[in-house]
Amino acid sequence: MKILVTGGAGFIGSAVVRQAIARGHAVVNLDALTYAACLENVASVADNPAYAFEKADIRDPAALAAVFARHDPDAVMHLAAESHVDRSIDGPGAFIETNVIGTYNMLQAARAHWEHKGRPETFRFHHISTDEVFGSLPADPAVKFTEDTPYDPRSPYSASKASSDHLVRAWHETYGLPTVLTNCSNNYGPYHFPEKLIPVVILNALAGKPLPIYGNGANIRDWLYVEDHATALLTVLEKGEIGRSYNIGGENERSNLELVETLCAILDRKRPKPAGRYADQIAFVTDRPGHDARYAIDPSRIRAELGWRPSVTVEEGLEKTVDWYLANEAWWRPLLNRQGVGERLGTGTEK
Ligand code: NAD
Repeated sequence: MKILVTGGAGFIGSAVVRQAIARGHAVVNLDALTYAACLENVASVADNPAYAFEKADIRDPAALAAVFARHDPDAVMHLAAESHVDRSIDGPGAFIETNVIGTYNMLQAARAHWEHKGRPETFRFHHISTDEVFGSLPADPAVKFTEDTPYDPRSPYSASKASSDHLVRAWHETYGLPTVLTNCSNNYGPYHFPEKLIPVVILNALAGKPLPIYGNGANIRDWLYVEDHATALLTVLEKGEIGRSYNIGGENERSNLELVETLCAILDRKRPKPAGRYADQIAFVTDRPGHDARYAIDPSRIRAELGWRPSVTVEEGLEKTVDWYLANEAWWRPLLNRQGVGERLGTGTEK
């Protein structure tokens, strides 16, 4: 298959690009290269004849039409988005433009291309979304998000992603575009941009800085290793049923405090401090407005219907992640100077 991947220079998109090439697909990586992008993430495939890069903005319909015409893809995996919840609170406009209007532009470009090709049933438009569209769960561990959970987004980011999910379903129902949709929990792993919680904790710990945790650290998230998410996404693309959505999660619920303490314990073993423990650097900071209490995914559908399951536990994945950051300072150090990133290391964050 020739797959047009949007956002392929980002954290999850680049894992999808690397795995898609390894699985024998051809990839066109379309990315505007915003502050969150790193082409180094796909350096390992850059010289592969099955890989092409297009610098283009999904807010620009003419640019999208040109990319579809130039490459004639068989499928789209749409990951390009503004992804940082805290930035969506400070400046929601970019989230509406890219996540809502940009997804509309992608749907229209894909639909025109699909109709031009004679509406092949084999075509796929795979929209990649988040569990945050479902809102906030109570503490009861028996209650989880299923594919039938009503939407209840509560941040500008999750509202923009929910809007884009609705557009994708509408383009399937109204125009027959062969879509699939996935909603995934919090990802972590190599190439995670250094303004997100796990890299913030690792990098601040190493720098001897406070490890900021929102509120009392009781908020619960369900964590999935990024390579496992990429495998799930390619499985849904290859085998998912048209018009269907799939929840993807690792069944690894941890409170933010537990997660940070686990990271500190791994660092204590791998890079011991001369005195004291990394957990001594934990600092509770003013909570995020509208902070959702708990997210938890029920991944029964993707497990039962498509046979996907994660390859690592959260402890194994965090171990690999810490190793990767310790070995790849040349990747993360320059990113600290990107737009607003340095200042964000001192404030609360998540994801
Ligand atoms: P990211 O911020 O690391 O990467 C986003 C990429 O999209 C960047 O390379 C950026 O340059 C590109 N981009 C942004 N605006 C663009 C535009 N207007 N035109 C073209 N390219 C543009 O994000 P991520 O964490 O890899 O998330 C990827 C997708 O997965 C997003 O749609 C996100 O909503 C979804 N998602 C993320 C998580 C998570 O935990 N990170 C969980 C579930 C779903």
